[in-house]
Amino acid sequence: MKAVVYEKPYDVKVADVEDPVIQHPNDVIVRITSSAICGSDLHMYEGRTAAESGIVFGHENLGVIEETGPGVVSLKVGDRVVMPFNVACGFCKNCLAGKTGFCLTVNPGFAGGAYGYVAMGPYKGGQAEHLRVPFADFNCLKLPPGEQFETDFVLLADIFPTGYHGCELAEVSPGESVTVYGAGPVGLMAAYSALLRGAAKVFVVDRVPERLAKAEQIGAVPIDFTAGDPAEQIRDMTGGEGTDKGVDAVGYQAQGHESGHEEPAVVLNALVETVRPTGKLGIPGLYVPSDPGGPDEHAKRGQLLVSIGKMFEKGQRMGTGQTNVKSYNRSCAT
Ligand code: ZN
Ligand code: ZN
Repeated sequence: MKAVVYEKPYDVKVADVEDPVIQHPNDVIVRITSSAICGSDLHMYEGRTAAESGIVFGHENLGVIEETGPGVVSLKVGDRVVMPFNVACGFCKNCLAGKTGFCLTVNPGFAGGAYGYVAMGPYKGGQAEHLRVPFADFNCLKLPPGEQFETDFVLLADIFPTGYHGCELAEVSPGESVTVYGAGPVGLMAAYSALLRGAAKVFVVDRVPERLAKAEQIGAVPIDFTAGDPAEQIRDMTGGEGTDKGVDAVGYQAQGHESGHEEPAVVLNALVETVRPTGKLGIPGLYVPSDPGGPDEHAKRGQLLVSIGKMFEKGQRMGTGQTNVKSYNRSCAT
């Protein structure tokens, strides 16, 4: 079959690879109908991870089941399914606690597995004609048959649950104010999720006019960081206090609003400045332990200069980590 294969930084090609086969009784083979390109794919593409050649990209996958292993009980050939980007077993300590992004079974020696991603196990990605889904009864979310809402449903693999996860990490509650840094797809879904959770006011920070217009369209207040320090702008609009909660939907390839070049900790530090004392920060934006293209020796090892002193002074709390998609995708679908 054809698949999108990573060779080296800035070199990705469509190549012939082996068709996936059933390897375990609870596997299924899915014929991919939609597979999204993620900002996380770009981290690998741009040489900003420890990715090695041969990875088949694609962790946001939707399709139709073509073959089921003999142990599959809840799915059949022809079912239309979307898969979390995480590969998870469903029975380990972390999966049972709903922390399926940190499964202890699927990627031995590591907490967490995913399709087509560096360090996330041997699972080939779905930017391909077919995909093997392990522990399929657990990992497949059945969708209505047909082709309707294809581009909406594919957001259930990562983007919508990840935006929601940012709000969950920050414990966004009814009546609160929230700042979301980044108005890409995850940031917009985080802002939307904050509103779904009853936030009274949501600010979204970006510099791309079309993204900011979209944020405004879903009911958020757009903040253009090229017009001045975003934390200052938001504190001015909240009586000097800052918002109750904050979400980082940017990650380590963030650009400074003053310098105009990459500053990996700029969003983390902006959140510390933007969120009020005792507020909470949700960090689904990606940070990696190994970044060959990092701007300095520390950044190359995933060590960033974070304003921990200011954070301590303000008594803030921070939640981090990849999304436990299984905890949210069913309710995001309805
Ligand atoms: Zn993704
Ligand atoms: Zn597990």
